[in-house]
Amino acid sequence: MDIGGTNIRTGMVNKEYRVENFVITDSQSILDGISSTENLSRYIRDYIERNAGFGKPLAISLGFPATIDKEKKYVVSAPNVKGVDNIPIVDILQKEHGIPVFLDRDVNMLISNDMYDLKLETSGIVMACYIGTGFGNAIWINGSIYSGYSGSAGELGHIPVLGRDDLCGCGNTGCIENYSGGKMLEHIHEAHYSKTDISDIFVKHGDEPLIQDFVEALSIPIAAEINILDPEYVILGGGVLQMKDFPRDLFEGFIRKHTRKPFPEKTLRIIYSEQRQENGVRGAGIYAFKALEKKEAAQ
Ligand SMILES: [Zn+2]
Repeated sequence: MDIGGTNIRTGMVNKEYRVENFVITDSQSILDGISSTENLSRYIRDYIERNAGFGKPLAISLGFPATIDKEKKYVVSAPNVKGVDNIPIVDILQKEHGIPVFLDRDVNMLISNDMYDLKLETSGIVMACYIGTGFGNAIWINGSIYSGYSGSAGELGHIPVLGRDDLCGCGNTGCIENYSGGKMLEHIHEAHYSKTDISDIFVKHGDEPLIQDFVEALSIPIAAEINILDPEYVILGGGVLQMKDFPRDLFEGFIRKHTRKPFPEKTLRIIYSEQRQENGVRGAGIYAFKALEKKEAAQ
């Protein structure tokens, strides 16, 4: 499952990583903030009954737009999803459904999908940035997802910007996600181009300084992380980059401009993730198969 503030995407992923019985449901009807976990569990039960025939899935795997605890048992903070913070959701669902339950950040599910999709079989370092409303980031080091000491690594959208102090959804002020991402684009649209449909903003205004400055702003956190990690590959994706006539060349030029020279700029390899509705679901499936393998190997 790929759980978001607006939609919940559900599917069954088979061993060949194909997605079947894919459905999109409105989040609000399930995650109402009062009985979110109970509703989610009931939704999963109904879905399995409808789609799994007489069988049972090997596992349930959930991606949340959230920070997750180190043991990956509960959501620590999901500003856009109601009623899921600090509830032992993995233990609850495991008990109710009798199968393993896996939980991680949605971006870690996306990078799991993209690593497979783009055939990046690497034991090195890969970073991914998914720019939508928020600024999603996932880091892959030596064959696995890097989640940090407390489980909260890769919060690239929340690096601070000197001299800015707008309140962020995370509770801090001046986070770069507010100046570099979908929220800023909405703000620019509202303030300057409200007569243009936002989906045409790059088509009609792509050559104007305001939009070019926005594109440069997107490159700043990316270049910052490239300068820290010196990655083998950089995966870029998310709704903003998929918009019509988004200026990829200009964007990559800005990323290179702000990356340290001669290295890692010289060896920089940028790849775009292909936007599909089921990416998060497929990634959650791949993630679960890998986690099950690891579990088996440990026994
Ligand atoms: Zn923040």
